[in-house]
Amino acid sequence: MKQQPCLLCGRPYDSDQPLTDPAEIAGLHLATQEYGDAGKVCPDCLASRGRLAMMYRSDCFD
Ligand SMILES: [Zn+2]
Repeated sequence: MKQQPCLLCGRPYDSDQPLTDPAEIAGLHLATQEYGDAGKVCPDCLASRGRLAMMYRSDCFD
């Protein structure tokens, strides 16, 4: 277990926690592919990023 502050909201989160929500996974994909901040952003922020991407960039996701 490793708690670290989220790069975006500053809230401490557990970076070892597995992501289960499709929005979180989509957000992680973006963090890895585009933002380059994977592993530094909490699941909540990944989820909001992922949800936005799924809404406005449906071409990127099946
Ligand atoms: Zn956050």
